[in-house]
Amino acid sequence: FISVIAGGFGIAAPTTSGDTDHGEHREITAQATAEMLANASSVVITPGYGMAVAQAQYPVAELAHQLRERGVNVRFGIHPVAGRLPGHMNVLLAEAKVPYDIVLEMDEINEDLDGTSVVLVIGANDTVNPAAAEDPSSPIAGMPVLRVWEADNVVVFKRSMAAGYAGVQNPLFFRDNSQMLFGDAKARVEDILRAF
Ligand code: NDP
Repeated sequence: FISVIAGGFGIAAPTTSGDTDHGEHREITAQATAEMLANASSVVITPGYGMAVAQAQYPVAELAHQLRERGVNVRFGIHPVAGRLPGHMNVLLAEAKVPYDIVLEMDEINEDLDGTSVVLVIGANDTVNPAAAEDPSSPIAGMPVLRVWEADNVVVFKRSMAAGYAGVQNPLFFRDNSQMLFGDAKARVEDILRAF
């Protein structure tokens, strides 16, 4: 499975940069994200390669801890090829002392995303791309993905509108229930912690 995804989708996929008009994206501030989280009953965090680049796992672990203290049901959803090595995200989260029992595999969390108040996509892109599930002409069509777009609200932490490893645009960023929180993921999560 991993070699199919990493080799087939990651390496051989052609680049399609911006040839489809997905409309406008919306942006959100760290302050507004903090308010959204304060009112949430359930939060799922889906990390990707950008969390590793930013070394954001420590403030992310602190954010999960603080939300749980407030009574929010917080879980992590881990895609099998999130990051650049199998198990990459699990290692980073373990390093930051995130409890194992709230770190779930994609297949364990996917059914629960519909009904989740807020999904925080922290530096993930290909692994949360709805085109894989919905667009048969997409270079990543058929790749299993985290269905984050089924949640009530999605906040995407990344620095720009750039594509991920597979080089394909992500229609998630243009969905009505999605908002972009631009900047380095570690800095933005720290901003949220300060806003609490
Ligand atoms: P992606 O590579 O699809 O996306 C990562 C995103 O992180 C980028 O779009 C980037 O956006 C963002 N990012 C980078 N740096 C930062 C930062 N400092 N702060 C915030 N965001 C940042 O990652 P995924 O984990 O979703 O998917 C993994 C991909 O790698 C898949 O295509 C998979 O097939 C492939 N792969 C996986 C392997 C594995 O074994 N796990 C092996 C080889 C390939 P921006 O630049 O706008 O910030």
